[in-house]
Amino acid sequence: MQDRSHIGTVYLVGAGPGDPDLLTLRAARLIMNAKLIVHDGLVDPAVLELARAGTRMVSVAKRRAHHTMAQDDINALLVREALAGHDVLRLKGGDPLIFGRGGEEAEACRAAGVPVQIVPGISAAMGAAASAQIPLTHRDGASIVSFVAGQCKGLTEQDWAGLAGKGRTLVIYMGVKTAPQIAEKLMGDGLAPDVPVAVVENAARSDMRVLRTALAGLPDLVIRAKVKSPALIIIGDVTARDDTALAHVALEAMP
Ligand code: SAH
Repeated sequence: MQDRSHIGTVYLVGAGPGDPDLLTLRAARLIMNAKLIVHDGLVDPAVLELARAGTRMVSVAKRRAHHTMAQDDINALLVREALAGHDVLRLKGGDPLIFGRGGEEAEACRAAGVPVQIVPGISAAMGAAASAQIPLTHRDGASIVSFVAGQCKGLTEQDWAGLAGKGRTLVIYMGVKTAPQIAEKLMGDGLAPDVPVAVVENAARSDMRVLRTALAGLPDLVIRAKVKSPALIIIGDVTARDDTALAHVALEAMP
């Protein structure tokens, strides 16, 4: 049995959508004091710059289709370091428990007797909504909001019926590559081709782009505008309200 007092803690921490100002105070404090940071490719370099000199940085950057480190290897790395007595700051884009596989990492740690703490982050949906001034819910427009993964096992078999439509907002993560299948799937479920859609690329970053179209035009927009990951697709009437005319607020102008 390992002496518990010598086991490190794994902190699963949300780094938010990009801008370091959108970190929680707890996340910022942990980053500034960390000796070891294990981070994803999605974590903005400006966030990593908060770490002090000499912090060990391990990137386990994942890009769709070519993973540099398999999830099992990431889990094993976290456990190994903690059992060796090191606290590990596992830094993830957005929130660790929304499409971040934080649940799997926490389970692997607990199974190995490693203590885990989880610090929430601003998920891309909230970051995009605020930066692009798109209300995810609105008393006059939407009382239900759903988050779905646009790139997942068996996308076409997933049951999304009823997630989008009148009074609903659907936020699609990881949907750039599969935009044509997504549009087809939703229209196949009976969603009108003219439902408004916003694509928010690089939300909460200085190079953010907000693009608008109707559902039927989504595949074409993604190609024409050369939309790149990370981007969110937001579907619903809330993306076309008048007050979203302010969407292109320059981040630099923020206090
Ligand atoms: N845990 C993260 C999501 C990880 S899945 C979170 O809570 O935000 C990765 C997907 O998140 C990307 O494919 C993209 O759809 C979305 N995403 C992450 N950061 C983003 C950003 N700054 N702008 C737009 N979309 C983003």
